[in-house]
Parts: sequence; structure tokens; C-alpha cells
Amino acid sequence: MASDLPVEKQALHVPDLAEMAQALREGLMQTFQTVETEVVDCPDLTEKPWSLAAPGICGDTCLADVGGPPYLIPQPTQEKIGRYDMAEIASLCGVPGGLVFGAGAASSRVRGTNCEMMPNNLTSDPDKKLSYTARVGETGTECVLEEYKTNEFSLLANLSISRGQPGKVIRVTVSNRSGEKNFVTAMRLALAERYGDKSVGVGGVFQIENGSAKMHIMPDFSSTPLHSDKDVEDWLMFYNANAPLTCLSTFVSRDPGLDLRVEHTHCFSHHGEGGHYHYDVTPADVRYTGYFVPAEYICRVDRPTVTHTIGRD
Ligand SMILES: [Zn+2]
Repeated sequence: MASDLPVEKQALHVPDLAEMAQALREGLMQTFQTVETEVVDCPDLTEKPWSLAAPGICGDTCLADVGGPPYLIPQPTQEKIGRYDMAEIASLCGVPGGLVFGAGAASSRVRGTNCEMMPNNLTSDPDKKLSYTARVGETGTECVLEEYKTNEFSLLANLSISRGQPGKVIRVTVSNRSGEKNFVTAMRLALAERYGDKSVGVGGVFQIENGSAKMHIMPDFSSTPLHSDKDVEDWLMFYNANAPLTCLSTFVSRDPGLDLRVEHTHCFSHHGEGGHYHYDVTPADVRYTGYFVPAEYICRVDRPTVTHTIGRD
């Protein structure tokens, strides 16, 4: 597919899986009372509650950081609304037809409003568009989770792309949180501590099996410009979503100079809740299980030329 989007491709450090599992275990023990990490064969992730668009998350693994918060904040860049296409991004990143999942902004042209997107499409198969969106409902305080059967999206996304094949993955199970970090930050910092200057990128899917988690949902575009994190917080709708939640996640241990969002996780469920994951609010009861793979490289697509650090939490 022809595309005029600029792409910067950079190799990432791919650790030995057993070594990476050990690094994750050691780091996660600073945040959770119970931690297990193990290299396993990826289970069939098309099954509920995972409900991925392909059986696995392996094969030519990469991350894509598309656009960015500067296209949303202080005001949306009109040319970036509905500008991106998951199949186009998969091709640009060298995995045409690949599985694309992660966190991004839906197209307001398709959905009728700006909102959260949980991308989950096998781009080789038109019947495997299993993405969701979460938007703010009529009352202004509730989540409306809906299927999103398109490859089109807007403004920004952090995506894991692969052939969607089975293969070796790292299974991580944690419970009983005693530290302050969220699950993803704890994993990211564990890898940053172990691998230092080397950038390790990870894509994966996890379940919040028990407890509840603080989410946000972007409402429709703000009528006034957003100039600070406080403005963004006042604009977003926050709420607590209940387990079980399926979460689509990407993170990098260190930004190799590409102006990346270093972690981004969106969740959906089979009970109408979803959104952008911040942290669980039930530390004593929470339990997470996930499957993760290191990415071989990262593609920075359509990087904003004017940037800032607002709205990256
Ligand atoms: Zn988000």
C-alpha cells in the first residue's frame, strides 16, 4: 500500500527470554507480593477472555508509535483525524497483513465522537476486525464500549504488530500489590534497570482478573485549548472499571530518541467497560496474568515536528 507517512525504524535490544523473565520477576517483586514469570508457549489468545484477532503475538514482532499527543493537544490537528489505517501501518512497519493491537484514538469520523480505541485487528482478514472503542455516554459519567469494525484511526496510537503466530512468550502472573507503581510501569522499570542504555520494547496482553482499575475515557474534543496536564485531567472522564478486563499493552524500557510514549495500555471487557489503564485501585485483591514478547524493532510513524510532554500519562 502506498503511503506518504514518514517512518523512522530503529532496532531494539531483544533479550534472551529466560533472562528477561528473570529481570521482570526481580523488578516486579518490588511492587507485588506474589510474582511468577515463566517462558511458555503462547496459549490460543483468540479464546475468551483474551479475544485477540489472531492466536498468538509472535512472528516479526515490532512496535509502532504513530502520531502523538501533540496532534491532540492543545487542539486536534484536523489533517490527523481519520488519517491512519492499521493495515497501512502494518505494511509500513514491514509486517503487511499483520496482527495490530494496542492503544490509540478512534476516528471521530467513524464513531461520531473522539474516544478511546482498543485496536485488535488481523489486517490480512476483513472478518478479523475485533477492535473496540470506549466513549463517554449521555450522562457524561459512564463508559459506552462498542465494537469498532474498521482499520481507520486518528491522531495517535501505540501498537504491537506481529504475524499473530503462536510461539514462545513470557507469562507473568502477579497479585497483592504492595508498591505504588502500576503493573506496566513496574515491568518497564524492571527492564530499564536490567538493560540500562539498551532499549527493550515489549508488546503483550494481560488480564486484570480480580479487583478494579482506574481508567480514563477521552470525551469529544475540547472546545477550549488544553495547555497543561491539569487541563487534560479536567477534560478527561475518569472512572473505575471492574475485572475481568483484557488489556492491550506496549512499553519501551528507554526512549532511544524518537519522542516516544514509553507505555500505553487500553482495556476492554465483555461487560461493557474499558478505556485507558492508569492503575488498579484494589491492591490487596488485584491479580494480573499476561503474555508478553520483546519487539525486534520500533517504527516511529508520522512523528510530530513540534512536541511537548503534556498528556502522556
Ligand atoms: Zn490511551
